[in-house]
Amino acid sequence: MKDIKFNWGLVGHGNIQKYLQTAIVNLHPSHAYVFYGPGKVGKTFLAKNIAQTVLCDEYRKMGSLDSAVKVNPAELPCGRCDACRQFAKGMHPDLYTVEREVSEKTGKKKSVIAVGQIRDLLEKISQRAFLNSYKVVIIPEAQALSQEASNCLLKTLEEPAPRTIIFLITTNKNLLLPTILSRSQLFKFLPVPSDAVYEYLVAEGAGRDEARELARISRGRPTIAKHFLKDKVRFEEYKNNVQGVLKVLVNRPLERLKEIEKMFAEDKGGDVALKNLDFLAGLVRDALLCKLGKTELLANYFLTTELADLGARAPSGWFCGFLRRVENARAMIQGNVNPRLVMENLFLE
Ligand SMILES: [Zn+2]
Repeated sequence: MKDIKFNWGLVGHGNIQKYLQTAIVNLHPSHAYVFYGPGKVGKTFLAKNIAQTVLCDEYRKMGSLDSAVKVNPAELPCGRCDACRQFAKGMHPDLYTVEREVSEKTGKKKSVIAVGQIRDLLEKISQRAFLNSYKVVIIPEAQALSQEASNCLLKTLEEPAPRTIIFLITTNKNLLLPTILSRSQLFKFLPVPSDAVYEYLVAEGAGRDEARELARISRGRPTIAKHFLKDKVRFEEYKNNVQGVLKVLVNRPLERLKEIEKMFAEDKGGDVALKNLDFLAGLVRDALLCKLGKTELLANYFLTTELADLGARAPSGWFCGFLRRVENARAMIQGNVNPRLVMENLFLE
């Protein structure tokens, strides 16, 4: 059983993968996992891969007590069985993904996952599994669970249903109830080393220069690098957006305020603000690197001249302080403080 090949395709996070693979091989995955750490490093991607693995027919046969059925699979998930095929189409009936719903009024995602959604979920998972013995729940933005929704979910974690695995994924575990954390197995994810992202991109067919640029700009977040490799238009858009934020940052205060009002007036859930905070963190980090003469490490290499100018505007201490304020702003927005106010405060400091 030791030599199962896991077809997960996850970049980095070797120790976490090994730990979870052992639990799977021993037929003993936990009933609840919290994956936390920076966005786009592969947390949800890993949860989906584990889901497909435990739902795969080969895994069901591996756990069978009937020796006529029992197999030791060579690889997991197999990618060929009915369950794997349904999974690939996003139609596996025993996989439940719970996300913020889109508001009919605004056409945008609501700011929280409502208690009704969790009640529906619990109702569904209390019934027998359709195809396999496992049921898997993935909640990619667990920090968006409302207080009521969290409490409702807590009840299942206190009395776990057999053969149900719940993945709670978040960029900020402090926004989850302590009682939820204490009933789950926690895994902390870190950014992936840039070399690993580079090698992955080259293996996926990227040219060396392209791979180097994408590895740099994704700052240890393979999911971003993967998207940009496939979608050049989005990559150009991303560059334009980063450039836009830089312009706002170096603008005069009054102009800055006007820009911010325009950018975040409609941003009720804070999605736009969070994205821009990410650009901002990258830019300020780069400005700091310019000051230190480490331009070869810049994420936004295409803006080297502008970033050197930005770096010359203030002492290093100011940039470090600003990075901390960006992190605070992120936490405030995730804690449902009005995004426009948070961004105004940040940009006017
Ligand atoms: Zn399969």
